[in-house]
Amino acid sequence: MAVNDYTIATLGSHSALQILKGAKDEGFKTLCIAKKGAEKVYRSFGVADEILLVDHFKELFSLQDELIKRNTILIPHGSFIAYMKIEDFKDLKVMYFGNKDVLEWESSRELERQWLTDANIKIPRIFDTPEDIDRPVIVKFYGAQGGKGYFLAKDTKDFHEKISDHINEQYVIQEYIIGVPAYFHYFYSPLNNELEIMSFDKRYESNVDSIGRISARDQFALKKIDPSYVVVGNIPITVRESLLPEIFDMGERVIEKSKKLISKQGLFGPFCLEGVITPEEDIFIFEISARIVAGTNLFEPYSPYTYIKYGKPMSTGRRIALEIKNAINNDRLSDIVC
Ligand code: AMP
Ligand code: AMP
Repeated sequence: MAVNDYTIATLGSHSALQILKGAKDEGFKTLCIAKKGAEKVYRSFGVADEILLVDHFKELFSLQDELIKRNTILIPHGSFIAYMKIEDFKDLKVMYFGNKDVLEWESSRELERQWLTDANIKIPRIFDTPEDIDRPVIVKFYGAQGGKGYFLAKDTKDFHEKISDHINEQYVIQEYIIGVPAYFHYFYSPLNNELEIMSFDKRYESNVDSIGRISARDQFALKKIDPSYVVVGNIPITVRESLLPEIFDMGERVIEKSKKLISKQGLFGPFCLEGVITPEEDIFIFEISARIVAGTNLFEPYSPYTYIKYGKPMSTGRRIALEIKNAINNDRLSDIVC
């Protein structure tokens, strides 16, 4: 079958504009599953040949027959994980780009830690009990949506005071690394076994990115301003070129380790290492996202790095579509969808 016999579909949020635009540019039909009210966005930007309206993204599961009829390949992004349960995905019958077995590793903080540590990646120290806290920490809640509710604590006492607002929530206590945040976007192709650096971003978070606009004196006067980390957007960055070898190596180690730890063929497609770079130029990674991240939305039509490699528009969304196209043309689609 030819590329235009397939439909590339995704949920209307997060990085859908980029994914659908990339799919169109590579010659696919496109479909967007949008919540009522959001469809005007996808209509206005003209990226979706077809829009299916839902009240909730979970209705994806009842639309499966419709999707299968159209030879649909679903592209997962952050809203899949945020609004649905991983177990539900396992039973999904529609073609899904990526390895579903990776989801479990990505969403469990313990498995993620094992994966990164085994790959020889530096990660912030984790404190198993609050009594062990001996340095500044960041407390993160499970399933937190974009950093909501996270707080900083300077010692055990401070922790106990602040955790009292979060009864019955699961959390992890992580060493707070002082440095600059950076998110490294990669793409790994299992078709030619090549790892690509796509781009980098940092997040624009409310209110932590605006606290610096208030003087220390006024911060004291206003009394209680605790930083929060609710993401509202992204800011592009390039990194010192001398950091690129280490960034490549980290990505390669994560991929190699995933092949050993995770069933089927490990991690492939777009992924992101999320970390902090210290003044000593140590890179600490506090999280891995095993799918497209929204920070790549900045790089439409291309990032400095993808332009240098491809010499034409190549967003992460388009790179996904190109991978699927290459797989179709080489009769290898079953290697990249499940
Ligand atoms: P949304 O569909 O906007 O609710 O996003 C789904 C998930 O992706 C949430 O966990 C968000 O925090 C995360 N997310 C959405 N947009 C961004 C962004 N621009 N940068 C980083 N994370 C994002
Ligand atoms: P996350 O939701 O895990 O991506 O983190 C949200 C925000 O908290 C990001 O802006 C990170 O820069 C910051 N952050 C997360 N973990 C750490 C850490 N261990 N040290 C310093 N900053 C962190």
